[in-house]
Amino acid sequence: LTRIAPVIDDLGDRFAAAGEEIALVGGPVRDAMLGRLHNDLDFTTSARPEVTERLVKGWADAVWDIGRDYGTIGCRRGEYQIEITTYRSEKYDPASRKPSVDYGDTLAGDLGRRDFTVNAMAVGLPGKVFEDPYGGIVDLAHRVLRTPGRPEDSFGDDPLRMMRAARFAAQLGFTVAPEVREAMTEMAERITIVSAERVRDELVKLVCAPLPRAGLTLLVETGLAEHVLPELPALALERDEHHRHKDVYQHTLTVLEQTVDLEDRLPEGGPDFTARFAALMHDVGKPRTRKFQPDGTVTFHHHDVVGAKLTRRRMQALRFSGDETAAVTKLVELHLRFHGYGDGQWTDSAVRRYVRDAGELLPWLHVLTRADCTTRNQRKAERLRRSYDELEERIARLSEQEELASIRPDLDGNQIME
Ligand code: ATP
Ligand code: MG
Repeated sequence: LTRIAPVIDDLGDRFAAAGEEIALVGGPVRDAMLGRLHNDLDFTTSARPEVTERLVKGWADAVWDIGRDYGTIGCRRGEYQIEITTYRSEKYDPASRKPSVDYGDTLAGDLGRRDFTVNAMAVGLPGKVFEDPYGGIVDLAHRVLRTPGRPEDSFGDDPLRMMRAARFAAQLGFTVAPEVREAMTEMAERITIVSAERVRDELVKLVCAPLPRAGLTLLVETGLAEHVLPELPALALERDEHHRHKDVYQHTLTVLEQTVDLEDRLPEGGPDFTARFAALMHDVGKPRTRKFQPDGTVTFHHHDVVGAKLTRRRMQALRFSGDETAAVTKLVELHLRFHGYGDGQWTDSAVRRYVRDAGELLPWLHVLTRADCTTRNQRKAERLRRSYDELEERIARLSEQEELASIRPDLDGNQIME
């Protein structure tokens, strides 16, 4: 906390002078303990939002209202993004999709209604008093997610917390306590009362985390995936000895992990939702199109087309934007094209069509297709990778030629002399 001491002490003094309590809370306290504190600082305070706004005006470089209904004021000071929320004591109507908020009077009360003990630690200011009424520090040392109260009550109050458990598993690499897993399994169906937007936001964070496999596995094993992303558990096709084929569910998680490793090839680098969601969905058309052929093989005719349709439907249900939906859907639709490449057999115009159809998504299609070049047969995987290297080289050569062609004027020598 030494690094941020100047800013948090300052804020503590201002609030104390006005007779209000304020504490650093949640994510930044947890992340400081993990040695990965960043510049997003969340605070909780006894001050009502109007008072908070008055106290930070003049001190912060900019102040805005994040949601006065929820009691949150946002501001920026230097490189710090700050959110200050009034103490809460929530009363939920289990039938409503949105929790209604009541302000609370104590820090302990506020911490008690938080999702997990590791998120229910605070540092009271200005004295930097560590507050940890639910033993978050012990759970953090054991890398486990536990609820401050009974998990059934907590998830009953806000079922989104079950999604948040999976999200934190993927972000932090923590496991969930046995009783938390049990409650998630028992109450999975309750997630359906939560708005699609809130579920989507957690799903995005989960998929973009360093360990998406951990979070997704938890969603599937507890049955939550059945409600938020049923296409994923459906990939666990029963295998039979006669028609051997790879496990599409495990394959999907592996492709997703390979995508993570290849993301530095994308224009922005780093976690990329489009690449990751496309990897997650690329084979969802397989269960619906699977046919056992008399010769002992298994086919998945046009699973790209079916998969694209299922992807669009799922993303619309989760209220993703039109652009996000279109991008991921297109990648799913195009990911099999390379299978027809057959070691350089494509004509130049086939290569140009590939580039044209991918459009702006070409770098993403490269990443997805390369990630999908996995098979248990190492030599085959290596050959596919080399073949894709060759395709990319051809694309580079062709576009260089085209660039040269485009700077040559559309006039012949005589016309130029004229
Ligand atoms: P991140 O690094 O992603 O911001 P975070 O822990 O700060 O992680 P937020 O979603 O920003 O997560 O929430 C801030 C804090 O508010 C959490 O640490 C947690 O204490 C509390 N919180 C957020 N959402 C809920 C919820 N649905 N139920 C209970 N507590 C919540
Ligand atoms: Mg936060």
